[in-house]
Amino acid sequence: MGFSSCFGVCSSCREKTANETQEIATNNVRMFSYNSLRSATQLFHPSNRIGRGGFGVVYKGVLRDGTQVAIKSLSTESKQGTKEFLTELNMISNIHHPNLVQLIGCCIEDNNRILVYEYLENNSLASALLGSKGKRDELDWSKRAAICLGTASGLAFLHEDVEPSIVHRDIKASNVLLDENLLPKIGDFGLAKLFPDNVTHVSTRVAGTIGYLAPEYALLGQLTKKADVYSFGVLLLEIISGNSSSKAAFGEEFLVLLEWTWKLFTEGRLLEIVDQDLVDYPRDEITRFIKVALFCTQAASQQRPDMKQVVKMLSTDVHLNESLLSEPGLYRPKYSGKSSGCDSSRISSQPGKGKQSANPFTASELVDSDTITQMVPR
Ligand code: ATP
Repeated sequence: MGFSSCFGVCSSCREKTANETQEIATNNVRMFSYNSLRSATQLFHPSNRIGRGGFGVVYKGVLRDGTQVAIKSLSTESKQGTKEFLTELNMISNIHHPNLVQLIGCCIEDNNRILVYEYLENNSLASALLGSKGKRDELDWSKRAAICLGTASGLAFLHEDVEPSIVHRDIKASNVLLDENLLPKIGDFGLAKLFPDNVTHVSTRVAGTIGYLAPEYALLGQLTKKADVYSFGVLLLEIISGNSSSKAAFGEEFLVLLEWTWKLFTEGRLLEIVDQDLVDYPRDEITRFIKVALFCTQAASQQRPDMKQVVKMLSTDVHLNESLLSEPGLYRPKYSGKSSGCDSSRISSQPGKGKQSANPFTASELVDSDTITQMVPR
């Protein structure tokens, strides 16, 4: 049975509504009427629009009880059957963790599918750290370290503690939201499952974001937890360097952030990657964090740590065995438009510490290979 357009608000179809409510009662998802969300956002007024992502437009809203919420209106083509949709939402709304954005409820009316989330005060890490009007001056090393650790904990929870486990698929700075204390919460988890094309764990469509894509996922569509670990590693480097992985270019060869970090590592100059805005930081700790990022972004996915290990590597003063570290993999689409002529094969040719990996994806192979999956970059 489907849900009618008048669910929850139309008195002329009360009988139908009663049936629907009964069905909904089997779920824990809080249902909102379209009208209630319209008034929460002042008729979806543009001034309440706080962002737009691959899944749709996001508005800030205030519910009748005064609760601030983020209201994400899903694009219509993202529909799946109502029952399946609610089942997934039910599962997502049952996931509670201090570092995961809480799903509060949803609205299903006519063609509208809207998700209601807790509202995070300080926008995304992308705008706070990498945006022009950000909060960089507030993001000292202790705050950044807490963001790294909190994000790692949230992701580890999705991977290891949720049953069935969730691969996020799109870990990146704009999906890490910051609360009033600048502590992180990961958003958008579980959403991929709401999209019929992407239901299986080995997807035929890549739905991640350029700059964060693990090579095996970008090229072969192999979606595993280790693809998230890779993206998390790139995110770590962004937090430490204060640079966007997709926008910044380094050195005479215009290397991307990951390539540049590897180059610095092989030349023993690792701390040069650190954001110059960070004046006071513990060198040992930040060095460890950078190395964790390199462990996470190794080309061979099986050599990457799992997220529980990452949490441990970040939170305790463990000794990282660098001799096990192999070079990073990198996916760069041919149409990326880089005029530098830079390709990732340079990574393999870095004068290194003998760090040739026996992995199936050397960086140069990756760049020259044809993609065999359909790319849907965002
Ligand atoms: P993509 O869909 O590709 O992941 P995105 O992460 O930018 O891109 P959304 O998750 O839809 O897209 O979010 C768009 C923007 O809306 C975010 O960058 C953030 O600024 C804002 N936003 C999203 N959710 C919330 C929330 N719960 N609280 C506060 N702001 C939010």
